[in-house]
Amino acid sequence: MANRFENKVRVLDLIRARGQVSRPVLSEVLAINLPTISSLTKELLDERLIHAEGFDKSDGGRRPELLALNPGFSTAMGLELSLSGIRGVLTDLSGKVLDREEGPKKAPAEPEEMIDAVLAVAESLLARSGERRPVGVGLGLAGLSDETGRVWRYFPHRKTWRDVALAERLEQRLGIPARLENDVQAATLAELRYGQARGLRDVLYLHIGHGIACGIVVDGKLYTGATRNAGEFGHTILEPSGPICYCGNYGCLESLAAPAAMVEQAGQALRKGVLSSAGLRLAEGQTLTPGALLRAADDGDRLAENVVLKAAEYIGLGLANLVNFFNPHGVIFGGEILVRGHRVLNEGIERTFRQRVLPVRQAHTPVLPSSLGRDATALGGAMVVFEELFERPEALFALAHGQPPLVESSPARREEVAGGRRR
Ligand SMILES: [Zn+2]
Repeated sequence: MANRFENKVRVLDLIRARGQVSRPVLSEVLAINLPTISSLTKELLDERLIHAEGFDKSDGGRRPELLALNPGFSTAMGLELSLSGIRGVLTDLSGKVLDREEGPKKAPAEPEEMIDAVLAVAESLLARSGERRPVGVGLGLAGLSDETGRVWRYFPHRKTWRDVALAERLEQRLGIPARLENDVQAATLAELRYGQARGLRDVLYLHIGHGIACGIVVDGKLYTGATRNAGEFGHTILEPSGPICYCGNYGCLESLAAPAAMVEQAGQALRKGVLSSAGLRLAEGQTLTPGALLRAADDGDRLAENVVLKAAEYIGLGLANLVNFFNPHGVIFGGEILVRGHRVLNEGIERTFRQRVLPVRQAHTPVLPSSLGRDATALGGAMVVFEELFERPEALFALAHGQPPLVESSPARREEVAGGRRR
């Protein structure tokens, strides 16, 4: 028999999971009598954790009031750090972006410069937050953190960036708890709570930014794997004797189809003198960007179109393999490159995927564009903070009674969940 505290947590969890729910439904699903439900929800209303949000359909009698999380109960800050720059958002519990700040468009090369740039974005947001001071900050970034989510072990393409105690630096400067999360996993979490994956049980989130990766939702929860490193789709091997990848292997998907690989292939062709009607010429000192290449493909430049289509085929093939194996309810296209909606790339991936996936999956695996666009990873950083808050109801209720945020570093809890963490 659960005690009152445990029942209150169950009520709150169900409201959060359902979005909106009435007292009679809470009573029925949780098998708690209606007077107790009324008393528990009154406490949650008094604590401003929930609020009334309209009425349910009537089944003859009075229409029951619907309860939902109170978006204004708390805010969190989310940051994204990628090779293409730094962005930050302040969000409420409903995932609504209240404020945003953009940093440099290109990530600095050295760790100290990178940390300074991240801190500058975070400090601006914090300074403007006023009464809406965030309970914590979550940073989504490429590569891999340690198991506590405090030290960044590795950042792709930045050799000097190793074992940076980034969470500590953020906490020292901002005075609020900080967490680090892989960028793709953070974006997947945002899609799961507030985007296209909401309400879907098993989902693959295909992310193409600088690299290619995949976020995984199993049974309504983010799957992170044994060492928090699941979803390295870009390093699945599609051509055993293909080009060498920066991971040291031959023929990884990234070496064949990542934006940098497409640019490299087009550059080689141009240097050999291949014609390009859209002016994709590599003049002395001029660099070709993935954006320019993808636009040229959409504009009908034959070289660009062939290079992009080839990459799209590899990605679509890889995706068909994943979907055959995993059988998700849907695939979400996200990440900086895919959310731009370049026709040749996006349609090429989907076409090859449909051609190659098992027939039984063809009609049952919708491909959905991300609804969070370029904010997904930063929002996901903020979600990491909220998830942790809701995993610790004592801290949550203390916050409701005006105690300072209690998402502070908690090595004990982190160790306890380190073995294959799932949210
Ligand atoms: Zn690789």
